[in-house]
Amino acid sequence: MSKVPELFGSLVFNDLVMQKCLPKETYKAFKSLVKAGEPLTPEIANVIANEMKEWAISKGATHYTHWFQPMTGITAEKHDSFISPVGDGTVIMNFSGKELIKGEPDASSFPNGGLRSTFEARGYTVWDPTCYAFIKDGALCIPTAFCSYSGQVLDKKTPLIRSTEALSAQAVRLLKLFGKNTAKVTVTVGPEQEYFLIDKQLYLKRKDLIFTGRTLFGAKPPKGQELEDHYFGNIRPRVIAFMEDLDEELWKLGILAKTRHNEVAPSQHELAPIFTVVNVAADHNQLTMEFMKKIADRHNLACLLHEKPFAGVNGSGKHNNWSICTEEGENLLDPGKNPHDNLLFLTILCALMAAIDDHQDLLRLSVASAGNDHRLGANEAPPAIISMYLGDELTDILDAMAEDKAYEKKKATAMNMGVDVIPAFMKDTTDRNRTSPFAFTGNKFEFRMLGSTSNISCPNTMINAVVTEKFDEFATRLEKAKDFEKEVKKLIRDTYTKHKRIVFNGNGYSEEWTAEAEKRGLLNLKNTPEALVHYTDEKNVKLLSKYNIYTPEEVAAREEILLENYSKLINIEAQTMIEMASREILPACIAFSSKLTQAIIDKKAVSLPAAAETDLAQHVSELTDRAYLALKSLEDIVVEAKLVEDVVAAAYNYHDKVFASMQELRACCDALETIVSKEYWPFPTYSDLLFSV
Ligand code: ADP
Ligand code: MG
Repeated sequence: MSKVPELFGSLVFNDLVMQKCLPKETYKAFKSLVKAGEPLTPEIANVIANEMKEWAISKGATHYTHWFQPMTGITAEKHDSFISPVGDGTVIMNFSGKELIKGEPDASSFPNGGLRSTFEARGYTVWDPTCYAFIKDGALCIPTAFCSYSGQVLDKKTPLIRSTEALSAQAVRLLKLFGKNTAKVTVTVGPEQEYFLIDKQLYLKRKDLIFTGRTLFGAKPPKGQELEDHYFGNIRPRVIAFMEDLDEELWKLGILAKTRHNEVAPSQHELAPIFTVVNVAADHNQLTMEFMKKIADRHNLACLLHEKPFAGVNGSGKHNNWSICTEEGENLLDPGKNPHDNLLFLTILCALMAAIDDHQDLLRLSVASAGNDHRLGANEAPPAIISMYLGDELTDILDAMAEDKAYEKKKATAMNMGVDVIPAFMKDTTDRNRTSPFAFTGNKFEFRMLGSTSNISCPNTMINAVVTEKFDEFATRLEKAKDFEKEVKKLIRDTYTKHKRIVFNGNGYSEEWTAEAEKRGLLNLKNTPEALVHYTDEKNVKLLSKYNIYTPEEVAAREEILLENYSKLINIEAQTMIEMASREILPACIAFSSKLTQAIIDKKAVSLPAAAETDLAQHVSELTDRAYLALKSLEDIVVEAKLVEDVVAAAYNYHDKVFASMQELRACCDALETIVSKEYWPFPTYSDLLFSV
């Protein structure tokens, strides 16, 4: 792979390709329409469509598809070939501007939260010209937004774009007051993606992994992550071969895959791209996850993207690095050399602080999912409580301002390793905090609560929305100021004093923090149903509709879709457990006990002692009985759960009853796994899975 620059973006209809193949006039007109956010004329669309098709065919494509992100959280595509009959039994390859711009999938077959009934099925996909088209699986993929016939959005992308536009408008207003005239502010994001790789043949032997993406049974292996020898460890040959292949495919799609390393748990890894504009980052992250699965398959591996594939070792998250920058490329979260003098930076920081404090619930619910419930608050990821890490330097600056004291900048200290050949270097002014859900990391915030399967659109939509509101409020206040500098300082002081309860620089995993957070009145929304029901709180509906990010109907639909999805997932997990326990685990345990009892009979017949067999048989029988009872009880609870009609009550029921009762069945079966002979155990264990590659 010697020619990465040539390879990079070779499957993307990017700006360079457009410049080369579009007539100059069309290219210019296209760029200015996109910049102004205006619709394309049919003439321009036709020319672009035709050139796109020629380019795609030259790359081996035969089909095109509108590629979108419905509320399933994953992507959707339906391929149509370019063929068009000409009447003499032959075809030509055709693609019109109309086909480029608009598609009409059946909207009722996607999650729609009551926005579409099956008899009113029409929906539209509409080209998002801010994202490049690309080729995948022999099809020209056109990134699109998805809405219903009545115009209600049914996807994850449209609200994200709406939220970036809203944020930009308010940021531009605020910046103007600080003497910065910029036309647009963009949100940039770098999502770090964690995942597991296991051997595919072993994966195929476990119904839980196939149906739910995580192990529903499994006793702890003798070795987990306690030696801390996997993080950044050298990468095994099979994994590096996978990573090389993956990087190559991602580069072809113009995805800026940058960092790859082993993560904390055995078999766990991470890929981080270079950050980019948020809606592109969202598309690219979806493609990254899709290709991880595909490429793994090529290597006879299975890629697990679930938040908690294995109990007892770390699960996988996705760190969402967020910042905003002006059209001129200035990062507004860069504190500069003297943050204490940087009033614009401190104002933006305070806006974020107020936003996060006032809307802890929106951030929390944006990462709520059945999978992520296993991580948040489980000492491997941030707690379910939202707080913000600023680090010592910024906290000291804000403390000094709040108390009206002069801030004394700490001198940067040099680090010397005590070895002459290693050069001394300057130490950072702030340490990092791995336990904070929303941590300032030098020139960006790292929102660390996302689950690994999360579509990053929703969390970023929420961050953008809450920050937009504060930029708006701040701009309104400062626009009225008589003495601007004085008012800015007062605004910073007031905001910090009011919202500093959200700042926490300590250990977020500690029990003391949970107690302290409660004292401070911070929310602790422990599980998905508890978090999701806040979607439709009046203040949230008001905020989201005020900036045209969601209509009130869209908010209600989203709450319903996500709650329903939660219930369905837990139901699938419970059904899978029932099937595995009744058809695989219990028969294995019964066969093993009968082997033991036969051994006892045989030994007794020749007057040999059989204390070990007797004791073991006793133990296996008792546990098998307990497992059987737990299984029966889970079966009953699942039947009852289906009868609950109200969406909210159903989700709570799945959490409180079904999920709780799954734990008891698992505990019995995991105990059995440790004493039943390996040749009888029906599927690969954690030891097999976690150390298979
Ligand atoms: P770590 O794991 O140490 O936090 P990584 O290098 O794995 O760091 O990932 C950091 C991520 O943050 C990368 O995706 C990087 O491109 C992204 N990033 C860096 N600067 C910014 C920024 N200004 N805005 C958004 N993301 C950024
Ligand atoms: Mg990282």
